[in-house]
Amino acid sequence: MVWSVLALLLGACATTRASRERGNWRTLGTSVEGRPLRVAQFGHGPRRVLLVGGIHGDEREGRLVAQELPGALLATPGAAARVTLTVLEDANPDGTARGVRHNARRVDLNRNYPAANFTPAADRGRRPLDQPEARLLHDLILRERPELVIVVHSWRGDHFINFDGPGAAIAAAFARRSGYRVKASDDIAPTPGSLGSWVGGTLGVPILTLEFQRGREAWAAWFETKAALLGAVVGD
Ligand SMILES: [Zn+2]
Repeated sequence: MVWSVLALLLGACATTRASRERGNWRTLGTSVEGRPLRVAQFGHGPRRVLLVGGIHGDEREGRLVAQELPGALLATPGAAARVTLTVLEDANPDGTARGVRHNARRVDLNRNYPAANFTPAADRGRRPLDQPEARLLHDLILRERPELVIVVHSWRGDHFINFDGPGAAIAAAFARRSGYRVKASDDIAPTPGSLGSWVGGTLGVPILTLEFQRGREAWAAWFETKAALLGAVVGD
């Protein structure tokens, strides 16, 4: 009897483990227009990392990162035991469907966070988190408490890695492995209410903002940053 109960418990654990390896995609919530924001977890280690596959709908050069990074992580010996990687596939599915930066209410979701530098505007929201997509990601971060957040964007005519919060060493390691240089937030136009300002500045959690070059072919963008992304996720 004891052994059959044990076998059942072990079976349940194995099932949970297996679904983690495959990725248990689920709907976190929905956008203004009712599109799902999909999230999944991979690995089962103590290091918690969150990847956001995109937040500006016209910057999808890095869309393969969310698709390919989990498999690359699980193929790295020992990595699944070290890391729990949470992947939010796309924080702005309405923008992606239209190929535009903003969400369906024309708000820039990367200006809608409760950072000290938030300022209300028609295209930033009247209040922090007044857009459902921004709130869903905000609540996910507070629930998961990642020790690193990585978010994928693209930039006209350049590629680089930017960071907020205590992420200088992680960004430097990323630069070494990818050839992308580190560009400080001070060198970029002010970003009031950005995800980086809130996660890095308010929460004090390191966040990497990965800027692919606009128009870069998606597979090329993935392959040139794969090793650097894996290093950041695993914590090497
Ligand atoms: Zn962007």
